[in-house]
Order: sequence, then C-alpha cells, then structure tokens
Amino acid sequence: MIRRLPVYLLLDCSESMAGDPLNSVEIGFHKMLSALKRNPYALETVHISIISFAAKAKVLAPLTELSKVNPPPLTLRPGTSLGAALDLLRESIQNDVIKTTSTVKGDYRPLAFILTDGYPTDDWESALNRLTAVKPAPAHIYAIGCGSEVNFETLSQIADVCLQVDAVTGESLANLFVWLTASIQSASVSPEAPLSLLKNIPLEKNLTLIDKERPPKYTDQKNYLFLHVTCRKTRQHFMSRYRYSPQSQFYVAEAAIPLPDDFFQEGSMKAPAVDAGLLAGLLECPYCHDQGWGKCGFCGHLFCLPSDHFLPEITCPFCQTTLKMRPDDEPFSVDGSVG
Ligand SMILES: [Zn+2]
Ligand SMILES: [Zn+2]
Repeated sequence: MIRRLPVYLLLDCSESMAGDPLNSVEIGFHKMLSALKRNPYALETVHISIISFAAKAKVLAPLTELSKVNPPPLTLRPGTSLGAALDLLRESIQNDVIKTTSTVKGDYRPLAFILTDGYPTDDWESALNRLTAVKPAPAHIYAIGCGSEVNFETLSQIADVCLQVDAVTGESLANLFVWLTASIQSASVSPEAPLSLLKNIPLEKNLTLIDKERPPKYTDQKNYLFLHVTCRKTRQHFMSRYRYSPQSQFYVAEAAIPLPDDFFQEGSMKAPAVDAGLLAGLLECPYCHDQGWGKCGFCGHLFCLPSDHFLPEITCPFCQTTLKMRPDDEPFSVDGSVG
C-alpha cells in the first residue's frame, strides 16, 4: 500500500479577497496543480483537500489523489471564520487520514496550508485548543498571511511556520503559489520531515518568513474599510473599498468591486461603525453608475443613490421598505466589515 501525503489547503474567501486576489488564487492553484501533476514523486504520494472559509467553513474538495483533483470554484462570503476552518481541518484529518498501527503503515503526517488575508472574526482560540489537544500533532501547519493587516500574533499560535505575502496582489499571490508548489514537491520527496526542508526552498519575491517567537505587533488600526452596498436598481451587491490615509486621516475611496448575488446568503458580518464623514471620495455603482449612496434607516443596509439629484422616496433594495429621504440628513455612521 502506498503511504499518502495528505495536503489540506485552507483558503480565505472573505470579501477582502474580492476581485483580483480571488482570481489570482484560482489561477495560482490551477498552475500549482498542473506543475504537481507533472512531478512523479508528487503524483505518487500527494492527496489534496480544499477547505474554504468565510462566513462558514466548507470542504470544497474532499481528500483526492493528485491526478484526480479538479480546482473547485471559489465563492466570496462575508467574514473570516478561521475557528470553523480549524475545526473542519481537525475533523477532516480524523476521518481521512489512515493511522499507523502495528500492522499498517499509515499516511504521512498531513500538511495544512492556511491562506488568509484578514484576521479571524470567530472564536478561533477554542478551535485551536481542540486542534492542539490531538496528540501527536495532527498536521504540519503553515499559515500564510497576505497583506498588511494580518494578525500574526494569532497565526503564530496556530502554525508551525508563518509566512507573509507582502500585498494581496496578483503578482504576490502568483509567487506564493510557486513557493507552495516547491514546498509540496519537496515534501513529497521526504514526507517524513517536511519542515526541515523548508530552509532549502527559496523564498520567492514578495514572501517573508515570520519569526514565530517575535511576530509583528498587531495593531487595531485598519488600513482598509469595506462597505457592502446594494444597487437600488438592479439589487446586485458590490463592495466599496476605502484605504486609510494617515496624512489626511480620511478613508479614501479606492475601488467598487461586484459581489456575487448570493453573497449575503449565510448572513453578514458587522464591524464597528465608521463615521461617514471620515469617508472621502465617491465610488461609482458598478451596475447603474450612480455615484452617491444612502443608508436604509430600517435595516441599516447601504444602497447606491444618484449624486446629482435628490430622490424624495425610494425603496430599500435589501429589505424593500419604502424610505422617505431628507435632503439635509446629518452625516451618519455606516457599518463596515472587517473580514
Ligand atoms: Zn446602482
Ligand atoms: Zn432596508
């Protein structure tokens, strides 16, 4: 019997991955699969499972031998349920992995790669306790934090190895998948000691190894703010991304990115409200091209509005309540999202 090397990929599919980052992950994963499928060592041992996490954690692909893995589509959802992902990882390993006994040589210790660009929005600590209670350690865990807002103090507690990808851009994520491919390839050659091989794998551009004993201090200052907005006319959703400018101390409008129609199916995440007066610049609704926006006094949801004329009455595209609008409304606070 061939001993398998199970590889679990845990992918953050929260809104901060919307647009280019999620596409880059899909492309990177495709390339990684085709490279691994050309590698005889990997083909012999590697089995891959994919778990996504956002509002919930889901097994997108159960543990499958490399030659038969097809990349599943990734869908965006609000939130970063890292705790749920860790629980699902623990359960999957329990169910999937063949243990070594006196008569059977079981599977190699799995590798788990957690790719995240936010910080957990659920109770990850108790999930971590449940995971570390399993002895011997159920997996070699690599945490890969993407961008500048990653909580490495958290990830250092979860992972054997922490890596930072400098920015959530197409190029950085492409480089990350080159590194992941090399890591899985070398682990498939020596699956007994994958961590000791790490030092031989060159770090691609945009990647930094984090010192687990001294992770970078995590600050609460958010560089990005994400607002969920629904188009008043088409009822489709988008995310307005704002970037904090330390000079002006405003959140400056950066991009409006379409979200899938079923984005709110599993609920939404609430973050501390932000004074709308701190938001600078207008973003155009990607569906109807209106540049203004308003907030439903009933359900709290945001929607697009024309910026050049006043509408005395509108229907909230989210809760369908008819709203009387006042032209002289005071600045209000909006609920952003942190996922
Ligand atoms: Zn619109
Ligand atoms: Zn409403």
